[in-house]
Amino acid sequence: MNQALDAKTGGTPSLPVYLDHHATTPCDPRVVEVMLPCFGEVYGNPASQQHSPGCAARSLVEGAREQVADLLGCGTSEVVFTSGATESDNLAIKGVMESTATRGRHLITAATEHKAVLDVCTRLERRGYEVTYLAVEADGRVCPDRVSQALREETVLVSLMLANNEIGVLHPIAQIAECCRERGVLLHCDAAQALATLDCDVNALGVDLMSVSAHKAYGPKGVGALYVRRRRPHVRLSAQLDGGGHEGGRRSGTVNVPGVVGFGEACAIIAGRREADARQQRFLRDRLLHRLRRGRSDLRVHGSLEHRLPNNLNVSFPGIDAGRLVREVGSVAVSSGAACSAPGTDGSYVLKALPGSAAELGSIRFGLGRGTTEAEVDFAAGEILAAVAAHEPDPKVDACAATC
Ligand SMILES: *Cc1c(COP(=O)(O)O)cnc(C)c1O
Repeated sequence: MNQALDAKTGGTPSLPVYLDHHATTPCDPRVVEVMLPCFGEVYGNPASQQHSPGCAARSLVEGAREQVADLLGCGTSEVVFTSGATESDNLAIKGVMESTATRGRHLITAATEHKAVLDVCTRLERRGYEVTYLAVEADGRVCPDRVSQALREETVLVSLMLANNEIGVLHPIAQIAECCRERGVLLHCDAAQALATLDCDVNALGVDLMSVSAHKAYGPKGVGALYVRRRRPHVRLSAQLDGGGHEGGRRSGTVNVPGVVGFGEACAIIAGRREADARQQRFLRDRLLHRLRRGRSDLRVHGSLEHRLPNNLNVSFPGIDAGRLVREVGSVAVSSGAACSAPGTDGSYVLKALPGSAAELGSIRFGLGRGTTEAEVDFAAGEILAAVAAHEPDPKVDACAATC
């Protein structure tokens, strides 16, 4: 059974307590249930329209497309199924830049974006495109004025995430969208982290392209979607996978039927509980923060607390190596959204991009989820605080070293 999803109300939590929902979420049992027939009865290829097995598969895929489109507030023809947010980011950025290269070769992004955006930008730079990497404010957000100032005649695309995967900070996307629209520049938004807890309506946000991923939203791994606006403006994309012309020629390759069907169900489930989930996770996140702070008043929170995913907390304790601590605390599954002390790694580029953050020793990233309980949060706070105390440099040893 899916222990991480069953909301338990008290008692001893089963271990490890999973607080790494930014890395991935457990698949909802109802999602698994709707996927199962796609490995059996519904085996057809949705592109085979000359017989009933193909038509049956097509009908499931199109049903799922409606579920995804409903959650994003867009039309079904604007949803392109992909293998996940990494592919969606690649398709959005490379696809737009290649199709508009005659108009301009400049794009704007931020230093704290996901690697699936930043590494695409690096590759485009090698191909002769120009990229502006915006700095973020001390709270981790991009200021809309900075976007406006960076826009040039030859800018065709701005790519900024809705919610950061390490520090959970939310960029003011709707405001940035207004600046872009005034200047006729397209806006792509990576909303992978936001889908399960925030309103991702593409028109409310004003985005032209948006990447989402099923496995960050209680769906299966290896499937996602790219929203591509069809009207005002009609976004042109050059395909990155050539072949049979699936997905309206925008993404060739036989559609992952079980994955897509599971993703559709995951979206339908989110539509019915997103706000309640967000409220509950915000309450538990605040409780976690309060407990940690009560134990260690010198705790440092990275990024804005106000403009933040309700399920994210990213903290560090002065002088404590977060990477080492996270590896040692086996009872709580969290990540050091940052500096692993492993040789050769040089820390979190997200933390480093925050002005004034002491990022050298890394930080602890908590990602709460649907199944997270009070008992789990309290337990996690206790375990982390105990580990911090155990890591503390011993003052007596220091005093001795000084006198000897
Ligand atoms: C997880 C994540 C991705 C990558 O998604 P996949 O579906 O695993 O490829 C991209 N961007 C952000 C912000 C993410 O959190």
